[in-house]
Amino acid sequence: MNTRAKETQPAPTPAEPLATVEQGDERFVNDVNVNRSSRREFIRLSGLAVGASGLALPTTGLALGTAGSAISQPARDPAAVLARLPTGNNRFVHGQLVHPGRKPEDFAALAEGQAPLAVIVGCADSRVAPELVFDQGVGDLFVVRVAGNIVSGAGPIVKGSIEFAVAVLGVRLIMVLGHSQCGAVKAAIEHIDANDALPGSIGDLIDPIRPAVLAAKGRPGDKLNNVIRANVEKGVERLKGLDPILSKVAKTGELKVVGATYELRTGLVEVFG
Ligand SMILES: [Zn+2]
Repeated sequence: MNTRAKETQPAPTPAEPLATVEQGDERFVNDVNVNRSSRREFIRLSGLAVGASGLALPTTGLALGTAGSAISQPARDPAAVLARLPTGNNRFVHGQLVHPGRKPEDFAALAEGQAPLAVIVGCADSRVAPELVFDQGVGDLFVVRVAGNIVSGAGPIVKGSIEFAVAVLGVRLIMVLGHSQCGAVKAAIEHIDANDALPGSIGDLIDPIRPAVLAAKGRPGDKLNNVIRANVEKGVERLKGLDPILSKVAKTGELKVVGATYELRTGLVEVFG
């Protein structure tokens, strides 16, 4: 644990939070081919240097190894964000969209940095676009989409992206978002017993969903919906315990990780966990 006194700690620079990511998942840095000498430039060019824009990064707690860093923006408090997303979804369901943050000037205003409200780990399915479903605008959601909204077994790129949003961008709410009629989950159910070879990398894609198929066995109700939910629950569980970055802030309650499912027919998102 870093024992430097909080009051003597200089304002976070982009290099410090990234150092946290490096310690937590060196693979992330390697995978984006950012070497040590060019990291600062990478952050500057990618518009991730929110510290430079005068925002107090809420990653101080992680960088210092302390538990109680305050979130400088009340709107990013996980409870506040968790209230905001269903409100947007309610607008979506009732056709009362306000389309926030969709004008060119909204995009331009974010050119120098971002401070998203939440990470959404969603399915790649074309019908489940988080910004639309929650009626949010540019810069609001840090979206990681992969078929089946897989977390465990998805590899370091998915987990590293989520860790990056938390450690560097200061996000404090993660939502794993499954959806009805998920094709990846259907495929996992269909092929779990058949043990047949699937073409290309599709087998590798559905393999991580198999534990959810087993977990849902014996649950009353619709089998597909049960596996969809179990798959989300497994993702939530994995992220809550993901060392060393997410587990640390999840344990203190500073980071909230929730599950949700989106019903295609109604547009309604049900949050749980
Ligand atoms: Zn899907």
